[in-house]
Amino acid sequence: MKYRAIKGTKDILPNDVGSWQLVEGAVHRVMRDFNYKELRTPIFEQTALFARSIGELTDIVSKEMYTFTDRGNESVTLRPEGTAAALRAYIQNNLSDQSPLTKVYYLGPMFRQERPQAGRLRQFHQFGAEALGGSSPLLDVEMMLLPMEIYRQLGVATFSLKVNSVGCDRCRPPYKEFLRTELLKIQRQLSADCQARIHNNPLRVLDSKDANDRRLTANAPLIKDHLCEECKSHFTEVQRLLDTLQTVYEIDGRLVRGLDYYTKTAFEITSTALGSQDALAGGGRYDLLVEELGGKPTPGVGFAAGIERLLMVLEKISGSLRADSGPVLFVVALDDASRRWTFAKATELRSKGAAVELDYLGRSVKAQMREANRQNAQYVLVVGESELASRSAKLKNMQTGYETPVSLDNFTLPIHSPA
Ligand code: AMP
Repeated sequence: MKYRAIKGTKDILPNDVGSWQLVEGAVHRVMRDFNYKELRTPIFEQTALFARSIGELTDIVSKEMYTFTDRGNESVTLRPEGTAAALRAYIQNNLSDQSPLTKVYYLGPMFRQERPQAGRLRQFHQFGAEALGGSSPLLDVEMMLLPMEIYRQLGVATFSLKVNSVGCDRCRPPYKEFLRTELLKIQRQLSADCQARIHNNPLRVLDSKDANDRRLTANAPLIKDHLCEECKSHFTEVQRLLDTLQTVYEIDGRLVRGLDYYTKTAFEITSTALGSQDALAGGGRYDLLVEELGGKPTPGVGFAAGIERLLMVLEKISGSLRADSGPVLFVVALDDASRRWTFAKATELRSKGAAVELDYLGRSVKAQMREANRQNAQYVLVVGESELASRSAKLKNMQTGYETPVSLDNFTLPIHSPA
């Protein structure tokens, strides 16, 4: 084999694409119901956009971005996430002039040069949403509801919601200093990664997956207990709304997420059906980011969810991904004249919205029947010299085996393809 897909990337094969379309359909449907409009941004952007928004010291920017210098000597990066590009588009196209609140969603590939493993790819897909211009906790909770409603519609119930508040630029800096002082006391016992984080990003020490780090920081101060009045009342309202909706959630004081731009609410949705990479979705509020990227001060909140991980959960709970529905009709032709007729008939029925297939390889009747079966066709029509002469043929229901005589001239299908 001379050429292979790049490590950490995957082909989505025709037999699997049905479940992708199922997920995408649910995303479009739920977003429409919540009145979010789709935004499609380019796959690559100026490197500085991501460095500035996600944060120079984050894992993504410091070691995972696909960055290259193009022929015009500009540094460009394949998008590692969707928010930065969405905000750049919002600012550049003055979307705030059209409405004080902009609600957008996106769906597409993201790129991060991580070590590939189950549930972790280098090209993966996310859907997500951003609400720009509103600071109401209603929007924070709506960002949690969107992915959960999509999961619910797809029949996934095995997930849990964790929420936290990471404060703002008033209450976080003093807390950060306090935490740093506390962590310095146990610095030597922490993992190497966490020792570095004490200086760069002490909040992320609390987020460490290392069991020893977690044990050592069991009593470390948590930001949720050091919020300013505004952040505190915002967080209380988020919880009140979740309670009103009778949503099950857990407050996780250690949840900080890997991106620097969050303020106030941060949340994550995980699934026990997944292994060590158990995060299905994450999001939060980022009230300073639009301004940071050169726009007017604009509060914002958003989420992003991984599609591959959702498909892994779906596969686990349903045993297999959805089998693709086959054509409604497979027309079997016995000779060249009938093949011409079946081709014309298939074209006519297709233009009326029915999924119809025929033989293109001059196969025997037996082989054509086998193919119709393999493709899961609901009906088969066999047409040969005598059928053309008598202008009638038998329509076979492949499920029941029952045959109905039909006229070739005003033949229409009893049912149409599923939408
Ligand atoms: P993040 O932007 O890191 O908060 O990621 C949001 C969601 O995207 C995660 O909860 C995962 O479901 C998914 N995700 C992130 N990174 C990867 C990856 N490398 N491979 C597959 N899915 C990912």
